[in-house]
Amino acid sequence: MSASGARRHGIVLVGGGHAHVQVMTRMAAAQRSGIPLTLIARDLDTPYSGMLPGHVAGLYRRDEIHIDLVRLAAATGTRLIHAAANGIDRAARTVRLEGHPPVAYDLLSIDVGITPDLSEMAGADRHAVAVKPIGGFLDRLEALRAAAARPDGPRRIVVIGGGAAGVELVLALHARLRADAAAAGRDPDGFAFALVTAAPLVPTLNAGIRRRVARALAARGIAVHGEARVVAIEPDHVRTAAGAAIAADAVLVSTRARAPAWLATTGLALAPDGSVAVGPTLQSLTDPTILAAGDCAAMVASPREKAGVFAVRQGPILAENLIALARGTPLRDYRPQRRFLVLIATADGRAIGGRGPWLAFEGRWVWAWKDHIDRRFLRTFTDFTA
Ligand SMILES: Cc1cc2nc3c(=O)[nH]c(=O)nc-3n(C[C@H](O)[C@H](O)[C@H](O)COP(=O)(O)OP(=O)(O)OC[C@H]3O[C@@H](n4cnc5c(N)ncnc54)[C@H](O)[C@@H]3O)c2cc1C
Repeated sequence: MSASGARRHGIVLVGGGHAHVQVMTRMAAAQRSGIPLTLIARDLDTPYSGMLPGHVAGLYRRDEIHIDLVRLAAATGTRLIHAAANGIDRAARTVRLEGHPPVAYDLLSIDVGITPDLSEMAGADRHAVAVKPIGGFLDRLEALRAAAARPDGPRRIVVIGGGAAGVELVLALHARLRADAAAAGRDPDGFAFALVTAAPLVPTLNAGIRRRVARALAARGIAVHGEARVVAIEPDHVRTAAGAAIAADAVLVSTRARAPAWLATTGLALAPDGSVAVGPTLQSLTDPTILAAGDCAAMVASPREKAGVFAVRQGPILAENLIALARGTPLRDYRPQRRFLVLIATADGRAIGGRGPWLAFEGRWVWAWKDHIDRRFLRTFTDFTA
């Protein structure tokens, strides 16, 4: 891609995910040499998932866990198009949008995230709430709190998915619904909480973290159904592959996810979960003018689990490589770390943490640390006074 080519339509970012917000700030900070930057965003407020469980627990307001893309675009000189992308015409180099004319690009970057795959759970679309897209989840969360306040409201709350996100979610719901009940003079012990997971609990984390997580759930009386794959969700129970029925009035799903289906229509090479297969420079294996980052990208040379930490770390390299492609200068490789810090909020002013195969810890200081890291990250995109 020559510099002059990239100046015509410029760089188009699809999705305001964790990597793209950094491209916006970094391209504004770097000398962009007039390369036009456009963001196509389905949601104008982009949620920061690290703080989502804290919001569910009532520790952060809704606006505190979001990046306002309208303000960020204005502050970084990015053209913002509020629309959902649903295809790419690679021959014409345009992105197709719902209810909006196509947008031309010279270089394209995709950071649209993934959503839980509900296809193997019959009835999930009618009787369950998926944790992503987060905007829809937050509205349903308020509806759940309102329903739970009624005498005949939901009492048996089931979270499906035993990764770190599912654990944080059930702990946060436990804290919030019980606090709501206590504040309204109802019995907080009227609720029953369960976590159902196809694999063992937090299987990718080390034994010390796993023990602490199991202890935190047991201390609150949250039932854990490990190695129980849910195949159907009915109005009053979930059914597992082994035929067990687990009573449920409200079901939330935070399971393994799939990339958006429209990516399959682009002709780009995809990983089995539908994410865009990328090389070390974050370029698509099929089309070097298209890059991808975050959960919707699969790093084929160094596969990693889906975690926001990778989307965050990819951001600066993605920005550098987009600029380098536009200028015709060499690209850098992104080398994902093998060990990364894991911090799991337990919704009681404490958190469990760890790193690699051995290190595990917990305490109030861990929550204070997580809170500090998360707020600092978000401030970069919300506080423009500097
Ligand atoms: C409850 C919970 C807690 C978590 N906690 C942590 C944690 O503590 N640490 C951690 O590392 N990971 C955590 N994760 C995982 C983390 O959420 C993801 O790895 C992270 O959000 C991935 O970022 P992303 O940029 O790939 O996508 P996202 O954050 O999902 O952003 C995608 C963006 O693209 C937009 N978009 C989607 N489709 C389109 C479209 N068609 N057109 C235009 N825009 C579109 C969306 O509006 C969204 O703003 C957690 C997940 C959950 C559910």
